[in-house]
Amino acid sequence: MKKIFLPKVKISYRVWTVITNEVAKWAKIGKESHQSPLECVFYPITTISLNKKRALTPFDTINLRDIKQFTIGDVFIPPEQYTNYSSYAASFSAPIGQEQEMQEVFAQGIETKLKQNPQFYFLGPGHSHPFSVGTTSPSSTDINHHMLPYRNKNEELLGFEFSLAVIVTQHPKPIAFDERYKWQACVFALDNYDQIQDLGVAETDGSNDLLQPFYYSHDGNTWETLQKAFLGEKLIEHQRWPGGWTSFLIRENEKKATLVMLPPRFPTQTPVKQTISLITKQAGESEFWDCGRGYKNYCLGEINSAHYLKQA
Ligand SMILES: [Zn+2]
Repeated sequence: MKKIFLPKVKISYRVWTVITNEVAKWAKIGKESHQSPLECVFYPITTISLNKKRALTPFDTINLRDIKQFTIGDVFIPPEQYTNYSSYAASFSAPIGQEQEMQEVFAQGIETKLKQNPQFYFLGPGHSHPFSVGTTSPSSTDINHHMLPYRNKNEELLGFEFSLAVIVTQHPKPIAFDERYKWQACVFALDNYDQIQDLGVAETDGSNDLLQPFYYSHDGNTWETLQKAFLGEKLIEHQRWPGGWTSFLIRENEKKATLVMLPPRFPTQTPVKQTISLITKQAGESEFWDCGRGYKNYCLGEINSAHYLKQA
């Protein structure tokens, strides 16, 4: 079988500290009261960076092979009052009549983080296997009750044909005293062929991928305002999308428009453009629109007559 390219996974130091503290807390509670560590659940929030081979837009179907790297940049920790953790399973429960309220707390917790940081996605919950040392693998419950439903959900909501499961285990060579070095994050993905892919152990790193989108910055905001003023009535629509993308639908003539899509890391990441027929609403091929790395080079009114010096 041909070996497929698998994405790398990184976790920011700050988030790894939060996750390992939570995992350690429940492991300790279990050891003290039941003599064996308890599993726990957490909700990692992740950015993706794409491979450069295809000019992908937020509307394309994206599979695991299109991803270069996942970076976990935030995490939602479930409130303790709903936890129902044991040494072999982790679930949630609410007092009778309060199930709806519990669902809302979880949905809100994740939603708030995604609103603050539009470059993030929620791609599936994480949990601990505190009894495992070194490697582990998803259990049939993990696959059937988490990875599969989330794969289907991600496909429906985001066009992502995969789900992600982070499973924290004991580090095979722990460094005492610091929880961050006593544990490790084993990452698995369920792909579009229903295969479990082992993405290996995540590296901890402070990463560029976690930066907020360009439009959150002063320069980005000013640039967008200028572009919108410059485009005037040619601008049909300006929209934000999951993952920190922004699109501009620009009228070229009565029949044709160009859809320019700015990725979350624009201008470091190259925008993608597509021709859209205003008559049939059909989109043409996606292609990169490369004006180099300076955002001032990108003048949205000059998409089809770009007169810039191509960088070597
Ligand atoms: Zn498990």
